[in-house]
Amino acid sequence: MTDHYETLGVSHDASQDEIKKAYRRLARRLHPDVNPDPAAAEQFKQVTLAYEVLSDETKRAQYDRGDTGDGAFGFGDIFDAFFGGGQGRSRREPKPRAQRGDDALVRLQVTLRDVVFGATKTVELDTAKRCETCDGSGAAPGSHPETCEYCHGQGYVQQTVRSLLGNVLTETACPICKGYGTTIPQPCPDCAGQGRVRTRESLDVPVPAGIDNGVRLHLAGRGEVGPGGGPRGDLYLEVNVQSDETFTRDGDALLATLDVSMTDAILGVETEIETFDGPLPIEVRPGTQSGDVITLRGHGVTRLHRDARGDLRVTVRVQTPTRLTAEQRRLVKRLADSRGDEAPRLANAGRTGFQRFRDRFMGRG
Ligand SMILES: [Zn+2]
Ligand SMILES: [Zn+2]
Repeated sequence: MTDHYETLGVSHDASQDEIKKAYRRLARRLHPDVNPDPAAAEQFKQVTLAYEVLSDETKRAQYDRGDTGDGAFGFGDIFDAFFGGGQGRSRREPKPRAQRGDDALVRLQVTLRDVVFGATKTVELDTAKRCETCDGSGAAPGSHPETCEYCHGQGYVQQTVRSLLGNVLTETACPICKGYGTTIPQPCPDCAGQGRVRTRESLDVPVPAGIDNGVRLHLAGRGEVGPGGGPRGDLYLEVNVQSDETFTRDGDALLATLDVSMTDAILGVETEIETFDGPLPIEVRPGTQSGDVITLRGHGVTRLHRDARGDLRVTVRVQTPTRLTAEQRRLVKRLADSRGDEAPRLANAGRTGFQRFRDRFMGRG
């Protein structure tokens, strides 16, 4: 383990004042804004870490006991916190004009049928493409970007500022060329020097069967072209499944409701329903109750990345007639009389046969 006292060049009984002075002295020499040598930057990290520990009496006491605190103070964090992640260093290079384009997020409207079978959708996009007139350079045809005279092509200018560490030389982006190191004396007339132009593009997007509402499809490199004709960003398409008039989705299953007349529910009926697979036969068995579910296997949603399909579950809703002629009333009355139906009663609260059995014999019913 490195000796923090040695790093700062102070004795083990140094006062806080001595530690602070030692740190300032070293920082003025090693700070990345004044010393471009990478070895100095590394040494500066060590010095900063040593100062972080020794300037805090609690950490210093821990350190003196040989307790490193194990990760309690990662020095990368300290370094970044003090110096903004080394941004001062990145300004030493002029900024490239060509920058990666932004990612784009677009909503993709699909129908439930698209989800059941999968589909290819055509999307219209407002995006940016490389300017063909200047091929992304931003300079009018026949002209070229020129080295910035203000910063001599460096992209940054130096300033002396007062800081905690005394007067420090800092660098800021050149105000004339905005950090690019070059200027464009004759901007391209078609893109105003931007190297890209707005455009409308149409794109065919494959929508996988079984995809969920709200999922984002990621198309790398299909976003917009960046400033200066830079590489395209990514395109994200957020799947928005429109609700269907007849069917709803529950995982791999499709759900629908079938209205059945009272007499068909009593006597049973074979009929046809219109589905995403075309007309399908469906049998309502005699004595079907409202709420009964008829399952049509394999006519649901295709499972994502598989061929298998879920089921179509049709819930029966028995239609009780509301208007009867006198003759019909008489017939229903006769039916009721001949059946001797029980009076309406409260249903059992969902207890199973076993529960009823148990409650009866265990004295809970
Ligand atoms: Zn152009
Ligand atoms: Zn400049």
